Amino acid sequence: MNKKRIAWTAAVCVFAAGAGLLAAHVHPVRPKTKYVFLFIGDGMGNGVTKAAEKLLDHRPSFQEFPVTGFMDTDNVYGEVTDSAAAITAMICGHKTKNGRIGMDREGTTGWESAAILLEEAGWAVGVLSTAPLNHATPAGFYAEAKDRAEYDSLAGQAIRSDFLDVLGGGGFLLEDMESAALLEEAGKRGWIIVDAAEILDEGEAEETGDGEMPDEAEEPGTGDMPAETDADDGPMLVTCEGEYSAPFMEYEIDRLRMEEYGTETVSLADITREAIGILEKKERFFLAAESAMIDSALHQGDLASAVYEVAALEDAVAEAVEFYRRHPEETLIIVLADHETGGVTLPAGYDLAPLETQRASWSRVDGYIRELLEENADEQEFLDMIDHYLGLGSSGTLLLEEEEKELLEAYRAGEKSEIRDALFAILQKKADISFSTDGHTAGPVTVYAFGNGQQEFSGCFDNTEIFRILSELQ
Ligand SMILES: [Zn+2]
Repeated sequence: MNKKRIAWTAAVCVFAAGAGLLAAHVHPVRPKTKYVFLFIGDGMGNGVTKAAEKLLDHRPSFQEFPVTGFMDTDNVYGEVTDSAAAITAMICGHKTKNGRIGMDREGTTGWESAAILLEEAGWAVGVLSTAPLNHATPAGFYAEAKDRAEYDSLAGQAIRSDFLDVLGGGGFLLEDMESAALLEEAGKRGWIIVDAAEILDEGEAEETGDGEMPDEAEEPGTGDMPAETDADDGPMLVTCEGEYSAPFMEYEIDRLRMEEYGTETVSLADITREAIGILEKKERFFLAAESAMIDSALHQGDLASAVYEVAALEDAVAEAVEFYRRHPEETLIIVLADHETGGVTLPAGYDLAPLETQRASWSRVDGYIRELLEENADEQEFLDMIDHYLGLGSSGTLLLEEEEKELLEAYRAGEKSEIRDALFAILQKKADISFSTDGHTAGPVTVYAFGNGQQEFSGCFDNTEIFRILSELQ
């Protein structure tokens, strides 16, 4: 990660020097912005980015972008927003009630998103998310719905949308509809369906040519060559449906250990790189990419996993910065959050060391607890599991005698939620961190901008401003 940081810091300097030269002219003409990246960290408030700085031992690199702003995220009633109302405000320019996607509070009027307006003005458009592709945030770019839980309708709108060039990430969250039937219809409508695993194979081929050893020969024919699959002209649907963990992508904390679990999965950065490869053949493009599970982790009080999701976002942003270096005068990169989740507080005396040895998401640990209970596994197996995956034990943070006693009592009682609560309370106490809620908060979020047009994002503004700025790009 350090190497990437140095690379983009250099890019920032080049940009700053360029801006200085421009300022020296009497009538500087700003070149048109032709490539726009919008990265969304779902639920990424300032508490989790601060925790990321501590736990990853560096500031998330987008925090060094030259322009920052503060964005208010209230919904139309001035209440704490959900992701649906938030994406509607940012991408359609109107605030609405929670649960609505691209529609007013009454549910009678639909709005066109900035993505649609840009496409009409000749831009290519890509939408990526680590969440299901018909989840609220990605759906905000292409759909209208009275209720974000209308998953079948949203999935249908996704594949029937005729303006997307790339849609990629997880799978589809479906109610009655079958995923195979959905993909079949997508195929008939001209989508080129790519299993995310194919990207992984390409990536591996590239990595072997990009090793640390300078004298290592490059893999022939990989480099920047587009994937075989995108030779065609149809829009591309990159999905983790199939053998992968659809409909959500894996948590980054788990993905990094996939070998241990006998498999491999793609990252948001992998999919971002693939999307750039497709979109950069077009004259102008808008690419939105969401790191969705910062929010899901924080809803569960899983700070370590949330931090890894921030790192996954940082890696995806690094792909855009890499693109910027090739097109410095025409590229704009925006990184923001739709709202804050969890109200993460790091009070005086906090210590994230107990989270450093966490090796799996709470979501995965939940599954292990369930398995152990079903198998009637003995207490030692339970202690080994929490030592291995949560670092609570000899491999990480030692358990006090009374803590171990408390945990074993909960385990003997056989209630998964009690075991989880006991584990969580111990870990939280040891790190001395707290969450003010298991939901969202009203806290304003930080917007980070870099590139041509970055100055639009300074100061304090409302989330609807994002739409205004994007729609003025046309
Ligand atoms: Zn959200």
